[in-house]
Amino acid sequence: MSKQSLHTILLIEDDPGDAALIREMLEQQGCRARVVTVERLSAGISHLQQHCCDVILLDMNLPDSSGLSTMTRLLDAEPGVPIIVLTGLSDEGFGVEAVKLGAQDYLVKSDIDGRVLKRAMFYAVERKKLELALKQTRDLFERQARIDYLTGIYNRLMFNELLEAELQRARRYGSDLALIMFDLDHFKQVNDTYSHTMGDHVLKEVAQLVSENIRAHDIFTRWGGEEFTVLIPKSNRDQALILAEKLRQLCEEHDFGDGLKVTASFGVTQLRTDETVELFIGRADQALYRAKSNGRNRVEAL
Ligand SMILES: [Mg+2]
Repeated sequence: MSKQSLHTILLIEDDPGDAALIREMLEQQGCRARVVTVERLSAGISHLQQHCCDVILLDMNLPDSSGLSTMTRLLDAEPGVPIIVLTGLSDEGFGVEAVKLGAQDYLVKSDIDGRVLKRAMFYAVERKKLELALKQTRDLFERQARIDYLTGIYNRLMFNELLEAELQRARRYGSDLALIMFDLDHFKQVNDTYSHTMGDHVLKEVAQLVSENIRAHDIFTRWGGEEFTVLIPKSNRDQALILAEKLRQLCEEHDFGDGLKVTASFGVTQLRTDETVELFIGRADQALYRAKSNGRNRVEAL
């Protein structure tokens, strides 16, 4: 049981009678946790900023805050500590709402006894641990779902999300938006002649080389296989052309190890007024195709 693991309970309660009753119940249950009592939400929040606490017992109607916002303000200030809301009989509905908004549990004051309180605290702590662990896992999955596993740059899913945001921004402010699409030349030969391990190494090196030579807000994506895109906000076709030419040279001059040389072909375009995403991307793809058919290791713009 959690008796050993509960060190500090923060009781935020402005009614001295209720506060005394709760402390008494805890004592009777042999709870040895330190109970810190404050009467105002602001005092509770500032206590949490300086001290650790295992669980919070919260009366929602306080001199400086009332209703559900008491709970949400506390949760915003300190999202990591489980909260048990204390309600009166007449506002039990608030308790249910508080749980929906992130409290671990609610107790109706007139129904509380020591055993109920102790058990509620135990489950609140356990549920909060689970909730935090789940959130961490979910954050990790969400990140992984948008990052290319091999190169660590964005994948197409992330590209699509960011492209949508950049399109809206470009349209709202009338700013330029350019796109480079490039593809490694004869990449299949690298895999066939050397190995797939070498192929993976080349992809990682290209990703690093390009990452180091674009601006922080340029959006670099592994489009798929050996194909990449760079979305360049606030840049027109001519500016993108200069960047593409720089990237092409860097790639051509780079030693990928064991004397291996790899080149890439580049297609460049700029967003036109009122065109669809498909047309915008399609034109970059056409430009890339032109670079391939015109002999590779070159940049074409459309
Ligand atoms: Mg009160």
